[in-house]
Amino acid sequence: MVIYAVGHKSPDSDAVCAAIAVAELKRQLGVECEARISEELNTETKFVLEKFGVAVPEILKSAKDEKIILVDHTELSQAVDGMDEADIVGIVDHHNLGDVSTDSPVDILVRPLGSTCTILKGLFDFFKKEIPEDIAGIMLCALLSDTVIFRSPTTTDVDRWVADELAEIAGVEDVEALGVEMFKVRSDIKGISAKRLVTRNYKNYEMNGKKIGIGQLELAGLDEALKMKDKLLKEAVKLKKGRYAVFLMLTDVLKQGTELICISGDKHLERKVFGCGEDCWVGGMMSRKKQVVPKLEEFFE
Ligand code: MG
Ligand code: MG
Ligand code: MG
Repeated sequence: MVIYAVGHKSPDSDAVCAAIAVAELKRQLGVECEARISEELNTETKFVLEKFGVAVPEILKSAKDEKIILVDHTELSQAVDGMDEADIVGIVDHHNLGDVSTDSPVDILVRPLGSTCTILKGLFDFFKKEIPEDIAGIMLCALLSDTVIFRSPTTTDVDRWVADELAEIAGVEDVEALGVEMFKVRSDIKGISAKRLVTRNYKNYEMNGKKIGIGQLELAGLDEALKMKDKLLKEAVKLKKGRYAVFLMLTDVLKQGTELICISGDKHLERKVFGCGEDCWVGGMMSRKKQVVPKLEEFFE
């Protein structure tokens, strides 16, 4: 039975490229494994796959009764539908361990590195397998995307030297330039609806029984996003239904900070948790995983 490697919903470049890299490594190891995506690709990931000539994987609508390798997440609330009834045989991730459980022993590698693709580079090395040029290219892009071109506090030294090695294999001479090119594509939000933007990089969490949603847009400049702030607020209010709070992080990659939008019945929740002023700007806030989720978890403890 074929194994599907698949990342989280609202797929980002790391979720998609990690699934493709896992499928390639398994193929080289003689295991029948195919990459799948959870939903349509965002513009950045489309650009990345096109740039290195890698085919877009098919969408996996349901994981029920399938053999699955989970990449870039371990939370059922972020997974493809039916994951609670899937046979999870492998996990590669760089987040806190979520709530998946398995029926049999599982091949699992979770490391606190900047991207799942960073971990996968180490797995290729461990098995003494070579990463094809095109796959090294998309893995590098995923690493640059998740670490916000090494600017996010999630970046580790391992990410830096893995990026160098991937660049060498892929024949990328200027890593920074590739990152900036990618972020320009991601920041081009003209013509994209507020609804799509709010859900583009959105994750659900459960914190001490409270349902919390957090979306993040990482942009090279916030001008375009702030022009449509009212529309973004409206969409966030729709998402709030059934949840304690919905946060939308408008992260400026250039100014290195986040304008935090919060929708909750708990008045001024964002100020209580993050100490931001009326303008909701939090300087230095870049990472949902490292800076927002832990503070919220501590607050709701
Ligand atoms: Mg991800
Ligand atoms: Mg990731
Ligand atoms: Mg990410």
